[in-house]
Amino acid sequence: ATQKETMGFKTEVKQLLHLMIHSLYSNKEIFLRELVSNASDACDKLRFEAVSNSALYEGDSELAVHIDFDKEKNTVTIQDNGIGMSRDDVVNHLGTIAKSGTSEFLGKLSGDEKKDSQLIGQFGVGFYASFIVAKDVVVETRRAGLAANEAVRWQSQGEGEFSLENIEQAERGTKITLHLKDDESEFADSFRLRNLIKKYSDHIAIPIFLPQEVSSDDADGENKQIPEAVNDAQALWTKPKSDISDEDYKEFYKHVSHDWQEPLAWSHNKVEGKLDYTSLLYIPSQAPMDLWNRDAARGLKLYTQRVYIMDEAEQFLPLYLRFVKGILDSNDLSLNVSREILQQDKNVDSIRSALTKRVLDMLTKMAKKDEEKYAKFWAQFGEVLKEGPAEDFANKEKIASLFRFASTQGNSDSATVSLTDYISRMKENQKKIYYVTGENYNAVFNSPHLEFFKKNNIEVLLLTQRVDEWMISHLANFEEKTFQDITKGELDLDELTGEEEKAAAETLAEDNKSLVERIATALKGEVSKVRVTARLTESPACLVVGQNDMNDSLRQMLAAAGQ
Ligand code: ADP
Ligand code: MG
Repeated sequence: ATQKETMGFKTEVKQLLHLMIHSLYSNKEIFLRELVSNASDACDKLRFEAVSNSALYEGDSELAVHIDFDKEKNTVTIQDNGIGMSRDDVVNHLGTIAKSGTSEFLGKLSGDEKKDSQLIGQFGVGFYASFIVAKDVVVETRRAGLAANEAVRWQSQGEGEFSLENIEQAERGTKITLHLKDDESEFADSFRLRNLIKKYSDHIAIPIFLPQEVSSDDADGENKQIPEAVNDAQALWTKPKSDISDEDYKEFYKHVSHDWQEPLAWSHNKVEGKLDYTSLLYIPSQAPMDLWNRDAARGLKLYTQRVYIMDEAEQFLPLYLRFVKGILDSNDLSLNVSREILQQDKNVDSIRSALTKRVLDMLTKMAKKDEEKYAKFWAQFGEVLKEGPAEDFANKEKIASLFRFASTQGNSDSATVSLTDYISRMKENQKKIYYVTGENYNAVFNSPHLEFFKKNNIEVLLLTQRVDEWMISHLANFEEKTFQDITKGELDLDELTGEEEKAAAETLAEDNKSLVERIATALKGEVSKVRVTARLTESPACLVVGQNDMNDSLRQMLAAAGQ
């Protein structure tokens, strides 16, 4: 064995550990779920690597997790025969947080226990959850394929540092020993552990063993401890839907997404025929911190014939559905499939259109059945979905039917009006969907451009998100109705009002002809045209841009970007 070396945790780990131990106390039992989830991932990875290099099995291909405990020593151990870790792996994975959005996340922590535990839950702390219940954690691991003397022991009390040394370890894989805090001895107990496995890890596809006491017929009369699988060790998505409880679906979500919160909805489907695959897709209940980060992880967990292939297979969903989590198990893809191959595979395109449709259907159903839930979804992911019409022209009508906006019809900034609602309330002669864009609700709601519309009770959509203008330009129309920015060009407003108003407007224009001419002369070079308008009912004048010009908000956005 080499000399023992002590290393400091990266600052962010220290911060996180400290906060986590305090904030997650009421959730402490989830440490087991996190460790089992990692053990299962490690077995998935080994199985995948062994497809092209079966020597990695080292004669042992029965992948499993073994959980054990010692009441006397007050320890719990979790051992797997998965891929294991090299020394570098250990330093990189158990000494830092290699997750995008980490510093942003840490910046948001406030010291308020309740808020922080929510945030931490959303961020997911995985392995470090061990320190909620343990005062000392020992990780002994050997990466598959490395020699027995290249194993590593990592040890830490969860404070500032950890120690690292090389050890001999015949078995491949990882063994984690938790030295429980004195008042956490409840976990060194067969009954408690069994319940926790059932509760959180039943869906895990490899067996999770726990020693069971069996009375023996031996002469010495002593009872024996024999490992017994506690879960049913079948990949969840391969079971019939009727055999899967909501709880199972929720726990499985937490395992695949590394999110600690419950999903908002899911859709589990088996497809047979030309293509043969099973998908289980989830809508999270909260947007991840890196939703807007271009390099953020996204995509599905890919399996072929139940063998794990890769995380973050991004080819199976469009970018505007990047918030969807879940798995895809295909029977058509080869075990040797790589990201490069996926990019060229025609089957992938077919699966992608089918999955896109699934997600859109799932959302449509949610919007119809459960407005409140849909409002939650919209608040988290609406802005991403608005990228849809530009990216996915074929589905643009369906995507647009999922959009929700604030409008002059509502009294608040909450986005609850669908385009279908809007159309159902259109005036008899109204041909277009009117909208106005701006920085925020107050600014648009008080826009002078709205006066005419408010007075005549014509609904106008109030668009305040940055993507709106761009989104509308790609959407162009909905149910054959085009969109009209009310700050642009000449609006055919008289069609919306009666003959009387039309005549009145003409008289008004005639009566003010000379005034208009004088103003036009005075503003020469500043504006392209001056005219009498029916748009305003209270303000004396307003500026309007041409139909094909940029409107105010886009102009401001570009100005802000230095263009
Ligand atoms: P996550 O599972 O979200 O990646 P964790 O904190 O749970 O985050 O684990 C961090 C990393 O440590 C894992 O991604 C993996 O590389 C490594 N790791 C943890 N547990 C094991 C294990 N039992 N076997 C192999 N690697 C592991
Ligand atoms: Mg994990």
